[in-house]
Amino acid sequence: MGRLKVALLLFKCASGSMHVNMETVIVEEINGEIIITNLVSKSFPIIRYRLGDKIIFDNVSFCPCGRESFIIKEVSGRVGKKIYGFKQEYPNWTTNYIFRNLAINKKITLNYQIEQREKGKIILNIEQGLENKQREIFLQEVRKYYGGDVEVEIRTGIETFAQPAVGKERIWG
Ligand SMILES: [Zn+2]
Repeated sequence: MGRLKVALLLFKCASGSMHVNMETVIVEEINGEIIITNLVSKSFPIIRYRLGDKIIFDNVSFCPCGRESFIIKEVSGRVGKKIYGFKQEYPNWTTNYIFRNLAINKKITLNYQIEQREKGKIILNIEQGLENKQREIFLQEVRKYYGGDVEVEIRTGIETFAQPAVGKERIWG
């Protein structure tokens, strides 16, 4: 079951929402992981197939396009325009600010990539290692922006292919 087939079960409407095609499939979310059951293909029944993709469902099932179905907000743990906290949503650039502040004020320049697989939690993949003191400063900065609303897991020593945070400065400045 590849991604192309999945595209037939999920579709993007004119309003830009990712809908679940309710007539052909049951989609369940278990611990943020997408589990699908195919309702139409008898020759190729798929029952509670684990796609391995992480998804975040929208709580609201009404879309401006008029369709009423489950809507999938994010697939695969990639971070889109928003970061979802337990209580509220944040634009994804809040994280860029954290790294920018570290680079400018604390001279800690990190290459990073953000991942969100479940509500209220983000994973920050960082290429460099972090000393304890740096980690502490880092977490202080995180709390400034997210308070306790977003839990942050830091993974160091991970290749991110990202631009250094100071490089991003140009975008904002
Ligand atoms: Zn729609």
